[in-house]
Amino acid sequence: MQVFHSINTLQDYLKTQRKKGKTLGFVPTMGALHKGHLSLIEASKAENGLTICSIFVNPTQFNNPQDLAVYPRTLDADCEMLESVNCDVVFAPNAHDMYPTLPNLKFDFGDLERVMEGKFRPGHFNGVGIVVSKLFNIVQPDSAYFGQKDLQQCAIINRLVKDLSYNLKLNICPTQRETDGLAMSSRNRNLTPEQRKNAPEIYKALQQAVELLKDKKSVNSIKGFITSHLDNIEGIEVEYFEISDFETLQPVNELSERKTALCIAAFMGKTRLIDNVIV
Ligand code: AMP
Repeated sequence: MQVFHSINTLQDYLKTQRKKGKTLGFVPTMGALHKGHLSLIEASKAENGLTICSIFVNPTQFNNPQDLAVYPRTLDADCEMLESVNCDVVFAPNAHDMYPTLPNLKFDFGDLERVMEGKFRPGHFNGVGIVVSKLFNIVQPDSAYFGQKDLQQCAIINRLVKDLSYNLKLNICPTQRETDGLAMSSRNRNLTPEQRKNAPEIYKALQQAVELLKDKKSVNSIKGFITSHLDNIEGIEVEYFEISDFETLQPVNELSERKTALCIAAFMGKTRLIDNVIV
């Protein structure tokens, strides 16, 4: 496995690999890797000649400096995990190389970013748009792999790829969960043992909401019920729980034939967790 910190050296290497006829699969991450990330590497390896994983805690997508400060950074352990699944290339740039000057670019993803994560984390998707565009320009992958756990991010990147005519295939991979249902996340390691014990309640509540939807309960009553149920559990504070159209991510008032996404963000202490299910 080759590890690159410099943009130029990475690009020189990728050029030689492309000349050999290898297709490039790309998995952008912020590190603190877990099996969810590794599932993306495996999906890329199955379809490409060369798989590149980037590890970069992107400062421009954090609207909360405290969140950025406590975001786990574990490069050595990450490289060991990537080696164990035969990832070919790690790209771990430093912030100065990625941002010699802070870009003044402004993305506007319209209604897609005015709900949920975009609404509660102002500027977040602008930062995501900037870093993902830069990474796509640097790596120039044939395919890129993202996790459904960050559903709204997938929708934003899908839009970015279309709006900027990136010549790549976007792949959305299923959310990997712990055996008790908790969605794997780098942030889980910041949970206290007590918080970790209660964290699976978030996914359980999503499953319960799906059942209530199938029983034709009204969207508003489900939202109210699930939010107050979770808020009553020790240590959980719901930031939002939305029932949305899968394509537009706009809130819906009733279950229809269209695919529907149930999306949640909740705090456990200072740790903010998100999850979703699709029906
Ligand atoms: P992050 O390091 O949190 O920015 O995540 C990097 C990529 O891994 C994103 O595309 C995430 O959606 C994806 N990812 C994070 N957690 C999971 C998970 N539990 N299952 C599948 N993909 C995930």
